[in-house]
Amino acid sequence: MSEHRETTGRCYACKRTFSFDPKEVTTLLIDPETRMPPGITVLGSLRPAKPEAVARSADEPICPDCVTKAQQYSEESGSGPSWGSWPPSSN
Ligand SMILES: [Zn+2]
Repeated sequence: MSEHRETTGRCYACKRTFSFDPKEVTTLLIDPETRMPPGITVLGSLRPAKPEAVARSADEPICPDCVTKAQQYSEESGSGPSWGSWPPSSN
């Protein structure tokens, strides 16, 4: 028996199925109604997170590739580590 309990899930960002350790994986709080983090509108703008939105939200796993990409993106955009502006909208 390994003490590493891996599980598989789907990356919220790229939809890739990957295996991860639930204790170590990066997760993102996602509101299932909007498929966005609470406090982020579908347009990517900020708004106050409503308590009910936070309450119904669940942590979604993010694969290491996307974590790296998000970090690079936030560095390049100079906006700091923020999932709110990522993934960048295609426009
Ligand atoms: Zn991913």
